[in-house]
Amino acid sequence: AKDLGRGITVEFEESFDVDTRRLAKLEDALRKTLSNEGIDVAFQPLIQAGTGTMCGVEALARWTSGEGVRFGPDVFIPLAERSGLIDILGLQVLTKSLEAARQWPGIGLSVNVSPVQLKNPNFTQSVVDALKAADFDPQRLCIEVTEGLLISDPEQAQRAIEGLKAAGIKIALDDFGSGFASIGTLRRFGFDRMKVDRSLIVALDHDENAGAILQATIALANALQIPVTAEGIETEQQALAVKLSGCDELQGYLFSKPISAEALNALYFEGNTA
Ligand code: C2E
Ligand code: CA
Ligand code: CA
Ligand code: CA
Repeated sequence: AKDLGRGITVEFEESFDVDTRRLAKLEDALRKTLSNEGIDVAFQPLIQAGTGTMCGVEALARWTSGEGVRFGPDVFIPLAERSGLIDILGLQVLTKSLEAARQWPGIGLSVNVSPVQLKNPNFTQSVVDALKAADFDPQRLCIEVTEGLLISDPEQAQRAIEGLKAAGIKIALDDFGSGFASIGTLRRFGFDRMKVDRSLIVALDHDENAGAILQATIALANALQIPVTAEGIETEQQALAVKLSGCDELQGYLFSKPISAEALNALYFEGNTA
């Protein structure tokens, strides 16, 4: 409550006030970090099911505010989307990811893109420019999109996706199974890959129908000749289940958490000349 003096306090609208002020402060802090190119990127290995070797990495944005507080992307990505900062944030993540991944031969790079970015008519060109500047083979880049824009504005989504594909960039549908993306969506956009949402994997441990749902989902993608990545794999049992169901790529804490570019270098590349 707000103290107006002489013991008089007001209760109403205070929490709203505090929330909007807190958000405005957070937005300022994020803007400051972006202007210093201070967004960090962590990389999580993508594992080939057949061989168990790393075939790619997913770039995941990380933010520590100037005051030393770490925020998860679930907080600062929506904040950036609402405050018009997502384009610059996304480009910073892409640029830093390309810079790191160019030193990893034969490794694919997956980068998440917000539906808000896809709506920007300049988006495709900015990706193409970043690839050129980093001298990075477009075929090695995969853009991960979620179904939001595909459903709310399919025409714009299709334009953006076609532009990216024409430039040789791969497109993955992220978080499949968490929302309403249909068979029609899968076909229409010509995805190069589908990522099964972690919620379907988590359900394997406690829902007796989950195995059948997972199998049907992967079979659907395979029928459309779309390869499938399973994310959020934490146990050997889950790894086995998704492999048997037809996933060709696995990702999760069982193999590695998201780690810094330096850590990935040290673990997978340095001194490893074989
Ligand atoms: P996502 O694209 O589905 O990324 C996978 C998330 O699952 C990551 O969380 C990753 O750390 C986590 N994860 C991976 N393996 C496991 C596992 O075995 N168990 C569990 N419990 N979690 C696992 P993170 O890094 O917190 O990112 C959350 C979401 O934020 C991402 O979900 C993505 O939607 C978004 N995001 C992250 N970076 C970016 C970015 O640069 N741009 C945009 N637009 N969105 C981003
Ligand atoms: Ca993703
Ligand atoms: Ca995902
Ligand atoms: Ca997710």
